[in-house]
Amino acid sequence: MKIRTWRGWAVPALLAGSALLLVACGDRQTKIAQPEGFAAVDTARIAAESGGDEWLTHGATYDEQRHSKLTQVNKENVAQLGVAWTYDLATNRGVESTPIVVDGVMYVTSAWSVVYALDAKTGAEKWVYNPEVDKAVGVKACCDVVNRGVAVYDGKVYVGVIDGRLEALNAETGAVVWSTVTVDQDKPYTITGAPRVVNGKVLIGNGGAELGVRGYLSAYDTSSGDLVWRFYTVPNPLKQPDGAASDDAFVKVGNVTWGDEGAWTTDGGGGTVWDSIVYDAVNNQIIFGVGNGSPWNRTFRDPSGGDNLFLSSIVAVDVDTGAYKWHFQTTPGDNWDYTATQTIILADLPLGEGGASRRVAMQAPKNGFFYVLDAATGQYLSGDAFGPMNWATGLDANGRPIENPAARYGKEPFQQLPGPLGAHNWQPMAFSPQTGLAYIPAQEIPQAYSEDPRFVSRPTGWNTGIDFSAGIPPIAPPEVAKMLRATLKGRLVAWDPVARSAKWTVEHENAWNGGVLSTEGGLVFQGKLNGDFVAYDAATGDKLWSHPLKSGGASGPGTYMIDGEQYITITTGWGSAFALAAGFGYDEKVSSSVGKVVTFKVGGTGEIADTGLTPIEKTPKAPAFGSLALVSQGAVHYARNCAVCHGPLAVSSGVLPDLRWSAIAGNADAWKGVVVDGNLAANGMVSFADYLTPDESEAVRAYVLSQAQAAATESGGQ
Ligand code: CA
Repeated sequence: MKIRTWRGWAVPALLAGSALLLVACGDRQTKIAQPEGFAAVDTARIAAESGGDEWLTHGATYDEQRHSKLTQVNKENVAQLGVAWTYDLATNRGVESTPIVVDGVMYVTSAWSVVYALDAKTGAEKWVYNPEVDKAVGVKACCDVVNRGVAVYDGKVYVGVIDGRLEALNAETGAVVWSTVTVDQDKPYTITGAPRVVNGKVLIGNGGAELGVRGYLSAYDTSSGDLVWRFYTVPNPLKQPDGAASDDAFVKVGNVTWGDEGAWTTDGGGGTVWDSIVYDAVNNQIIFGVGNGSPWNRTFRDPSGGDNLFLSSIVAVDVDTGAYKWHFQTTPGDNWDYTATQTIILADLPLGEGGASRRVAMQAPKNGFFYVLDAATGQYLSGDAFGPMNWATGLDANGRPIENPAARYGKEPFQQLPGPLGAHNWQPMAFSPQTGLAYIPAQEIPQAYSEDPRFVSRPTGWNTGIDFSAGIPPIAPPEVAKMLRATLKGRLVAWDPVARSAKWTVEHENAWNGGVLSTEGGLVFQGKLNGDFVAYDAATGDKLWSHPLKSGGASGPGTYMIDGEQYITITTGWGSAFALAAGFGYDEKVSSSVGKVVTFKVGGTGEIADTGLTPIEKTPKAPAFGSLALVSQGAVHYARNCAVCHGPLAVSSGVLPDLRWSAIAGNADAWKGVVVDGNLAANGMVSFADYLTPDESEAVRAYVLSQAQAAATESGGQ
């Protein structure tokens, strides 16, 4: 544990005594006693204050609308936004954090679950907490070692650490108050999501369903770190009670959707709760999104062909006990990594009888349909495609997808849309009660799915049952990578959930664009992967302002007010799933940049420093070698073992080493030392000796160097 503490911090005058908070409640003003002390946040304060001057919870409000009531920055003056301050997050790995702002302090995370406390007005550092994760954990992270932010409550900052710890830090000093291991650390669990807090409980899930784990959501006591309840999202293999809050749900509805006891998955089943966890105060429940199956391919996961609850579902449980209330499964029998973990937003829409207000839950999950459910009961109200797709032709009256039979792929590849990166991924969606529109960071990233004839479950690396090498030529010139990238599209869709159609759409240059912030100033803000940060007219989609971030803009932006000035903030960085797996060929100003917190205000005159990485020399460090047969063998092993981190076709986006230009690839002994002997395990590159013989490892080197030669003979090296 390493802590840097800023010692000059003074408790804000507001909190020095017994502060009272004025809350509008119906037509009268009610005084709510506010807890005393530093970062004195409780459930009532989050409900009353967040989404105004402060940003107290991940999605701005408990309803997670990511809509701020602030209006100082508006359509008239947004063009005058300039940089107020920046803070260097000292990483070139993925940054996905939404800052929390409490009493003038910003709490934000970076890669490897490092937490920063900053003066929200100036960006001055107060403290930094580094949980000092063993870098070998990095190989368990499907989608880079990212973190989407903290929760703040009762004087403490809560962070989910990539190695499965949940930790409470003293909000004033960054010192660890308690630390609890929430997973079996011998299994490939990770935590990337932001905790949520309500009524003295901190809620956290986990990730790992690409590799093979059993998902669950847990509630821990905010004071002690003790487990209060746990809800598993898939049954255990013998369908026996776990002594957990979910037992009843499996007896009632879950078990019957899986094959015979002991006949299915050795990979945990999946269903990780890695992002969306929403407190519904009206119904005293937690509504959360559940991830994909493990393995992805249902044929291997559960040959009986069941729906496999609660994979790819939206589930509601009692906030106090974790007891099951309702579920809605977006993708029965998931076969494609179609998680339903995406942003869940609660809102009141005129969908009741005679246009009466009805409280709904909305989600635009990976599978490409925008769902509206009754929040109290989970009743399906509507679902519509918000972008192109070929896996289903629509939804039936109960909201069940009408599948294209070809999407249940076999050994022949089926080129499918959406692919596993989804029609919408983790980038947060927003909803404006002012316009009645939901703003979806949507995308088109297809994938050829086919069954992996060699599939056997293994403890390290991905266990999908999909053959990622299908259709990939053994030697692919750089043009192939460029052509692949040109097929990827992204857009911002302003979706009307009552009219069930897009009100407006902005087409972007590329996929994997950023999360959205909506404000009462009539604006929506979104970062783009090319590094632009843009403000649009929330009603029309007209572009009103743009500023280069000099790095990727994927995170959910936030806004807050201090001393009468409104600030707009975003964390920037390259990395995350897309950059590792499909982000090759981007402008190096973006793809080799160091992440930052960048904060804007009207009239800001600051600059964003160029803090790029030292460019690598794009030359092969040894000549290509080996027969076409050897190179082809290497291509298959590369696709199965290396591509998800080092990039398809051996073309890296710059986050992790581009092996084509690596000195290690130029030397057979050094290569074996890393790939087989694990010499760089401390950097996160663990040994692959269990999966690659020394000869197979050398075949991968032959493939990498042949790709290097193919690129070197073309121009540009990309
Ligand atoms: Ca997944």
